[in-house]
Amino acid sequence: MLITNAPKGTNDVLPEESYKWQYIEQQMREVCDLYNCSEVRVPTFEHTELFLRGVGDTTDIVNKEMYTFEDKGGRSITLKPEGTAGVARSFIQNSIFNNPMPIKMYYLNSPVFRYEKPQAGRYREHHQFGVEMFGSEEATIDAEIITIALDLFKRLGVGNLELNINSIGCEKCRPKYNEALLKHIGASIDSMCNSCKDRYEKNPLRILDCKNESCSTVVANAPSTIDYLCEDCAEHFGQLKKALDSTKIKYTVNPRIVRGLDYYTRTVFEIITNSIGAQGTVCGGGRYNKLVEEIGGKPTPAAGFGMGMERLLLVMENDGVDIPEPKNVDIYLAAVEDDAIIKAMSIARQLRGEGIKVEAPHIKRSLKAQMKYANKLSCRHVAILWDEDIKEGNALLKDMIEGNEAKIKIENIAGEIHNAGK
Ligand SMILES: [Zn+2]
Ligand SMILES: [Zn+2]
Repeated sequence: MLITNAPKGTNDVLPEESYKWQYIEQQMREVCDLYNCSEVRVPTFEHTELFLRGVGDTTDIVNKEMYTFEDKGGRSITLKPEGTAGVARSFIQNSIFNNPMPIKMYYLNSPVFRYEKPQAGRYREHHQFGVEMFGSEEATIDAEIITIALDLFKRLGVGNLELNINSIGCEKCRPKYNEALLKHIGASIDSMCNSCKDRYEKNPLRILDCKNESCSTVVANAPSTIDYLCEDCAEHFGQLKKALDSTKIKYTVNPRIVRGLDYYTRTVFEIITNSIGAQGTVCGGGRYNKLVEEIGGKPTPAAGFGMGMERLLLVMENDGVDIPEPKNVDIYLAAVEDDAIIKAMSIARQLRGEGIKVEAPHIKRSLKAQMKYANKLSCRHVAILWDEDIKEGNALLKDMIEGNEAKIKIENIAGEIHNAGK
């Protein structure tokens, strides 16, 4: 181990690329605001039990991928492996349910930890943007959840997307489906992985999610949840389709989608792109009517989605999406003599006070070297500060684009820069 190498599966966002993050964060905030959806910030770690109960102990995330440790007080703590359970916990703990429903919340840049094999756009510590809406049973909420994600992609210029929807039913119709699924699997369970053998008893639906080849072969032609929906679930799914139709959103009903977490009921969906290899999921979510109750709250219908921000950036890069670059430095103050260097500090501060982006001379070097540095900054202006000019309140202002220079009053520098920018 080399301490200057970060742990496997982590990623640095470097100064020259952080503007991309800030840009998508800004778009996320703006889209959510249009939906009257407010930001919530919850802790990075929670009690392990929250995820065992909320996410489910038959999921890969909980079984294999959690960062769990005992803290010095002997509590079992887990770095959050997904975003929803913590928000649901906060919803209960802070009595957010006392506010007028529905409650609409989003989180962004929220670190999520999973001990899994790192791959493109997938890190052991990655960051998620997610939306969670509590308190409405109506399928219009499911549709709104989907449109937030699609509106964001549209703003960001991400195309080539396909929306897949499905319904996995409720506790009323699930048992019948499970029965049909178990019947389909039959004796083949012997050829399946140990996780699936466990799921067979506890949560058969999860078997459809197994990446293990021998398991996916067995369930390849398994019955679809959609054929086993109870009347209420079928109607809810019908309403979702109507709501999407009315907003002119194209979708595919894909009975293979069940999502990898136990808390989903009824609607599940994935937004898929071909930009990051075959069928990459850039956003997934659905309805989770049992979660709040499961972790100790009053029964509360809810729906939401999560999307990995690193993945989103990767998709944008592969799609060749233009992200507006940050503004260049407006002016570099060049100074060689000691007094002028000190004076540059006060001029810099004045200019910044007028909203001008300034770089000051912090390294002693020749004027030639400083001009070279100014070029690298791609700044439009350079003010060369000589002691004898400063004494008369003057500086030599160069316009690097026009290629001209003039001795002007220091107090007029800001005006010159503002004019040049027009
Ligand atoms: Zn049902
Ligand atoms: Zn399996």
